[in-house]
Amino acid sequence: MTANFFDDLHDDNTPPTYRWFDGAKWKTSVNSHFIPVVSPIDHATLGRITVVTHGEIDTAIANAHLAQAAWADKTVMERGKVLHLAADWIREHESYLTTLLVSEIGKPTDEAKDEILRSADMIDYFAHEALHMKGEQLPSDAFPGYDKSKISIIERVPLGVVLAIAPFNYPVNLSVSKLAPALVTGNAVIYKPPTNGAISGLHLTQIFRKAGVPDHVLVAVTGSGEDIGDYLVAHPGIDMITFTGSSQIGKHAAGIAGMIPLLFECGGNNPALVLNDCNTEETALEIVKGAYSFAGQRCTAIKYVLGLSPDIERILPRVVELTKQKIKMGDPRSPETKSVGPLITESAAKEVEARILAAERAGAKIMLGGVRRGNYIEPTILDYAKPDMEIVRIETFGPVVSFIRVKNMEEAVEIVNRSTYGLQAAIYTADEGTGIRLAQKLHVGTVWINSKPQRGPDHFPFLGIKGSGVGVQGIGYSLEAMTRLKPIVLNKPQ
Ligand code: NAP
Repeated sequence: MTANFFDDLHDDNTPPTYRWFDGAKWKTSVNSHFIPVVSPIDHATLGRITVVTHGEIDTAIANAHLAQAAWADKTVMERGKVLHLAADWIREHESYLTTLLVSEIGKPTDEAKDEILRSADMIDYFAHEALHMKGEQLPSDAFPGYDKSKISIIERVPLGVVLAIAPFNYPVNLSVSKLAPALVTGNAVIYKPPTNGAISGLHLTQIFRKAGVPDHVLVAVTGSGEDIGDYLVAHPGIDMITFTGSSQIGKHAAGIAGMIPLLFECGGNNPALVLNDCNTEETALEIVKGAYSFAGQRCTAIKYVLGLSPDIERILPRVVELTKQKIKMGDPRSPETKSVGPLITESAAKEVEARILAAERAGAKIMLGGVRRGNYIEPTILDYAKPDMEIVRIETFGPVVSFIRVKNMEEAVEIVNRSTYGLQAAIYTADEGTGIRLAQKLHVGTVWINSKPQRGPDHFPFLGIKGSGVGVQGIGYSLEAMTRLKPIVLNKPQ
């Protein structure tokens, strides 16, 4: 059943060549350039993706423009039905999609399953919430000098053709968070999945297609960011970009995008501030959960802990113990593995290793781990880290948490606010009032008190500031971001 459902995505070779979706048909590009998709688990080639040409992109975008108006003309209820069916099919194919996700990006099975099921829930929620979107109506006499002669009727309308670019670490969930709000509000979408994660992204495309997205309203283009990224981002036919990825690519893309709305979620480098009254056990447990899930390859992972020396000496040994107890590095397909599988590539693991060793040379002490085996990095804890060490200064996408000893909490706030990132932070304290006052001083998108930073629940606002992004996501917020106001002003009969 599952195999037939996804049959036309690829040819019959082993490993298969995957096609791109031009909005109506699955096709191999006229280009003869292909990119292998390699499993981070055992380096097996899972397939290869076709690299679309600029000409193919031009045609797909032109067709998307033509198709979008009819899609926007459908009722929200009709578009919502398509989304609900897509959610149902994700649930029906959950086990197949989970296995695929595990092999494609090396995510431990329980976390991969969670990503798939959460994506189905998110699609349903988008479809429900879209029913409640409304416009408004404003009278003119509220402004000085105006009488009652005019009335503004303000509708929310789709933006047109949205470019959706997703990252490797949540290729299903962070594609759904773009595709679902864009489609349900009546936009057409040009979707570029990440190269590592492309196969999962193409399966998701097929699900939306089979759920009833009409011809040319959803296009899936494949190729590396290097091959086609700039061309897509700067394309005059794109009306809005929703992007998740590193701060480096995000800043570059924002620079060439032109004057269109941008919804960007970029890198995070999230601190945890531990206060002297925090509960040792609960704090240590949250730090462990926050640092290691999906081997620390999460934008919301805790990357460094700030506290006074006595508090670090109280909490750090428990973090070490709990890490040993609860986190098990290994093959992500095995139920024995807890959180830490391979990093996405060996070069990513080498980069993390180099930063650990550089930190050690500069005076940090490795309290646990620090060892690389191929593209696996052992869960690692550093003490005596400093804010200017690369491992702290730049988002380190691996299972590493660094403890920094500060003189006082003012210094901790200064370190957080000096960072070029501003996604999330966590504060651990027995006094929520103190927590709130400290949270108000932190220049980040969201502060969590007494829990690990995270994305979700998905209807909460989710945003980064500084190098961590622009715009606000979250179910209702994303729907707003994918639409604009369209005021029509009438002369009111007197
Ligand atoms: P990445 O290397 O920046 O890639 C992200 C996406 O951008 C991929 O689809 C990539 O395609 C594409 N891309 C590359 N170059 C491009 C260009 N010139 N123009 C347009 N698109 C281009 O990030 P990643 O390694 O996949 O993901 C990890 C990063 O994402 C981390 O920094 C993480 O913090 C961040 N992230 C942030 C959030 C958040 O909510 N703030 C959530 C998840 C992840 P290819 O794969 O083909 O190169």
